[in-house]
Amino acid sequence: MKPTLVLVGRPNVGKSTLFNRLTRSRDALVADLPGLTRDRHYGHGRVGDRPYLVVDTGGFEPVAKDGILHEMARQTLQAVAEADAIVFLVDARQGLAAQDKIIADQLRKMGRPLFLAVNKAEGMRRDVVAAEFYELGLGDPLVISGAHGEGVHDLVELALESFPLDEVDEEEDDHPKIAIVGRPNVGKSTLVNSLLGEERVIAFDQPGTTRDSIYIDFERDSKYYTLIDTAGIRKRGKVFEAIEKFSVVKTLQAVEDANVVVLVLDARQDVSEQDAHIAGFILESGRALVVAVNKWDDLSADRREVVKSDIARKLQFLDFAKFHYISALQGSGVGGLFKSIDGAYASAMIKMPTPRLTRILMEATTQHQPPKSGPFRPKLRYAHQGGSNPPLVIIHGTSLSSLSASYKRYLESTFRQAFELTGTPLRVQFKQGH
Ligand code: GDP
Ligand code: GDP
Repeated sequence: MKPTLVLVGRPNVGKSTLFNRLTRSRDALVADLPGLTRDRHYGHGRVGDRPYLVVDTGGFEPVAKDGILHEMARQTLQAVAEADAIVFLVDARQGLAAQDKIIADQLRKMGRPLFLAVNKAEGMRRDVVAAEFYELGLGDPLVISGAHGEGVHDLVELALESFPLDEVDEEEDDHPKIAIVGRPNVGKSTLVNSLLGEERVIAFDQPGTTRDSIYIDFERDSKYYTLIDTAGIRKRGKVFEAIEKFSVVKTLQAVEDANVVVLVLDARQDVSEQDAHIAGFILESGRALVVAVNKWDDLSADRREVVKSDIARKLQFLDFAKFHYISALQGSGVGGLFKSIDGAYASAMIKMPTPRLTRILMEATTQHQPPKSGPFRPKLRYAHQGGSNPPLVIIHGTSLSSLSASYKRYLESTFRQAFELTGTPLRVQFKQGH
């Protein structure tokens, strides 16, 4: 599992600036997709060869007793409680604020590894900046500038130091691991029950902590699956009490650990910011995806048309995925999900032999030559597969820096069509050289 860093601090200390810096290199992968919200709070970071997840908690308003601010504070607290490491940001330019002390007291109670980062310190003397923050009693402050990148690398390395590097598991089981994710009340646990309804459940683990999903092995039509249940099958046999309805960290970890993600939406409600954030994270993870628009039973025929086109427009960037309109409660449309899950899994794990990839590449470049830009025409020589889930095609050639985005998209869609990929993103990388 990738360690999760959670950024906290009062408003305006620079959390989202730091978040953007930590996740920026990954942003390029999903840039410019119509409909994809850029206001993300969950992302992937990497320091050296070490990947991790980052959560920007937005604000921290420990005062609100109820209402939306209270709900935000609750979710922040929960993300913090489930973090592998907490980065607590304060503002070097404003100095120590009363609210910093309140937050520090709360964080200390969490008992999670905690790193105090004094931000906006570019051009300032480290020792002078740090001095007043010792009062928080959180040990040595780390002096950084999120905007300029100073001290950021050291901060992240330190925060992740104690977490073992993920071992790459080459002997992966050859059956799909399916994560069921979505915001609270969309019907995840109803869907889990419905999916498992008639199947033979082989085993499931008890969750150790709030942030653990339940892993359920089952068999259907003589095929094996593992369901990663983020909602908890508590309602099924009242085995577990509902501890929390929704956990960001749990959702992120489940997506990471799955081959195929089922994103559940509530057809009765607009696509919310939270839906879009989760969708954006799934896209960034490269996992295969099936979208389940649930509670379809509760919509009139007129309403259905409106909802369908609205969802398609707002989630345009997920157009590689199959959309299913289902009723988890009545069990309708649920069988169809398995077909798409199987298809998405097969596509995500596809083997693309080098000769075939290269032949497709040659045909594509013959049909449409890469446009010349400057004195040289890009020359694409051969292609090979660089990975699975998502499938990665690496193209070798020369003068590649002048390849346009639209030509790259053309190649990507050519490969998609040739291999009949459904339900998975495909990534194409270019390597300069012969
Ligand atoms: P958040 O509310 O904690 O997410 O804070 P933001 O990231 O939105 O930053 C708040 C303000 O501080 C913005 O105007 C940023 O440009 C500025 N800021 C963020 N990081 C730095 C930094 O390292 N140095 C300076 N000088 N300003 C920064
Ligand atoms: P979760 O928080 O995502 O696990 O959502 P639940 O499975 O607990 O469902 C939330 C509420 O939506 C419950 O009252 C369910 O009975 C209801 N619900 C779930 N699926 C459907 C559906 O397909 N149709 C309708 N009408 N209600 C549903």
